[in-house]
Amino acid sequence: MDLSNKIALVTGGASGIGRTISLELAKRGATVVVNYNRSRDAADSLIKEIEAMHGQALAIQADVSKYEDAGRLIETIISQYGTLNIVVNNAGITDDALILRMSEEQFSRVIDTNLKGVWNVSKHSAKVLLKSGYGRLINISSISGVLGNAGQSNYSAAKAGVIGMTKALAREFAGRNVTVNAIAPGFIETEMTKKLPEDAVKAWANQIPLKRFGQPEDVAYAVVFLASEQASYITGHTLEVDGGLVM
Ligand code: NDP
Repeated sequence: MDLSNKIALVTGGASGIGRTISLELAKRGATVVVNYNRSRDAADSLIKEIEAMHGQALAIQADVSKYEDAGRLIETIISQYGTLNIVVNNAGITDDALILRMSEEQFSRVIDTNLKGVWNVSKHSAKVLLKSGYGRLINISSISGVLGNAGQSNYSAAKAGVIGMTKALAREFAGRNVTVNAIAPGFIETEMTKKLPEDAVKAWANQIPLKRFGQPEDVAYAVVFLASEQASYITGHTLEVDGGLVM
């Protein structure tokens, strides 16, 4: 799948699943803008790694939960490259607790990053995507947004919201060759899932038909496909990458 001459943005693209998405897009020829919030060193070393394989990449700091930051991120990309074709809304956080113990601050922080962050970046990139002639908006949701997960009323609500937003934007953008899809990963081995207690990990792994957690590459390959020309007739879809957990 060839993505040369395409400009791609990956939010939270310096670490975890986002890092692998950035690398896989770059390997297929896309110029990759790696957005990070705090991980400046990780972003810098990823840019060097992409350049070492003769790819093109640029790191831009922005907190996607802030409307103005998201605007500055997209403006910088347009002033640097003149266009934007592929937006991967990957940035996300968890802050788990049962609702009896969850504070309002915990709820708002997760909604602001995982739901409003997706809207902020989509809102600011809508015009350029619609004008680009080839647009792909790919939102990373979660099976927590499909199934609901105890202890994640904030995260499950945000990720379910992302699926609804994906469908709304798919309808809004359909007339202009811009597809909008979501990916709902199951359990993927990253820093995010390292935080889970060992007994919870064992219990979940047992319920996964493929009997193992996924790797960041499993999500990144799905992103590459949805970003490609070959996926041009798929829009408004949520693709579960979960070893069969949701079916
Ligand atoms: P990590 O915790 O490993 O990485 C999260 C990334 O999001 C970091 O690069 C971080 O950047 C970035 N980020 C967080 N907040 C912001 C912000 N306000 N602005 C910009 N970037 C931000 O998580 P994963 O890689 O595991 O998760 C990636 C996505 O996949 C998330 O949306 C997550 O919800 C989703 N997902 C993950 C699953 C899993 O099993 N791992 C399962 C289902 C969904 P920085 O370090 O610079 O702050």
